[in-house]
Amino acid sequence: MANVRLEDIKRKFNNVTAIEDISFEIPDGEFWVLVGPSGCGKSTILRTIAGLESATSGKLFIGDFLVNNIPARQRDVAMVFQNYALYPHMTVAQNIAFGLQMRSFDPKTIQDRVLTVARSLSLEHLLDRKPKQLSGGQQQRVALGRAIAREPQVFLLDEPLSNLDAQLRDDTRAELKQLHQKLGITTIYVTHDQVEAMTLADKIVVLNNGRIQQIGDPQSIYARPANRMVATFLGSPPMNILPSKFQDNAFDVGGQLLPVADDIRLLLKPQQGQGFDLGIRPEHIYLNEPPRRQGHQEGELGELEVEVKVVEPLGRETLIRGSLVGSSGVLVNVQAGADVRLRSGDRLTLELDMHQL
Ligand code: ADP
Repeated sequence: MANVRLEDIKRKFNNVTAIEDISFEIPDGEFWVLVGPSGCGKSTILRTIAGLESATSGKLFIGDFLVNNIPARQRDVAMVFQNYALYPHMTVAQNIAFGLQMRSFDPKTIQDRVLTVARSLSLEHLLDRKPKQLSGGQQQRVALGRAIAREPQVFLLDEPLSNLDAQLRDDTRAELKQLHQKLGITTIYVTHDQVEAMTLADKIVVLNNGRIQQIGDPQSIYARPANRMVATFLGSPPMNILPSKFQDNAFDVGGQLLPVADDIRLLLKPQQGQGFDLGIRPEHIYLNEPPRRQGHQEGELGELEVEVKVVEPLGRETLIRGSLVGSSGVLVNVQAGADVRLRSGDRLTLELDMHQL
């Protein structure tokens, strides 16, 4: 096992800069997730760590060793790809054993390792099958098994769940987390799926346009996003962004006034006429229901009137998308209970927890 350190890594493809200013250090044994929209540079970072790409500039350390010029095979990392990349003519057992044979392990060790890995991934009964006789989920477990068998110092996973259907993806995600808890191998996981990032990561690295936007544990990134991109990328439904102007001691959102809570006033020190994009998560906006108001003092809740545009029942809750009355185009997402009875066109007053901006 090893820590992984990137110092100011940059990678250019001809004139295009795919990633730049990439610096972070992953402590030994942690599970980090690189997340961001397609094309933001996640795979380029992972492939650079694996040795499948070389950095244009910057330093990459695995353990205490500078590995920029060390070939992929000698880096002691294992990578799992989205498309599994299993050898089709080999059985499951042979696929898992392959990396060990290439490294000239003795047959007894290989046999023992294959069995241990197969057991930990519930693959024992499939050892004699060929990949095409397996489901997608089983193939992915074999790919994981092949990577684990080598007991690498670092485990790299590039969108490993994206070819699985929804239920299997959830199950495999939970298995991956358990596996990491058991093995404790330093893991770097690439995904564009913010749910995977939130549920798996010790730390999340949010990327956009080839640059790091924020690094932190899932809860703190969710609660205190560093910028608008992070705020709207993590969380489903995304954070609401309300354009406003500070006027006469209130935030004016399209003609509707929101009070400024004391802690927010201290933080922002707003000036008359200054513009603010107010970010508020859907779970901090309430329908005008008396029970939700309990525990809130005068001035802590702000009211906004919206017209309901879309009502989406999600089983456990209902997502309401409303449009702010009086200001064209500003949409507000609200999570409400399962039992709300609203229809498109209804007018309603929302209450915003003004501490949660
Ligand atoms: P992600 O994994 O986040 O989808 P990538 O790391 O694959 O993003 O790509 C980042 C950027 O680098 C993209 O703009 C992509 O087009 C570019 N890129 C990646 N690989 C190459 C390559 N081999 N040649 C040219 N451009 C590339």
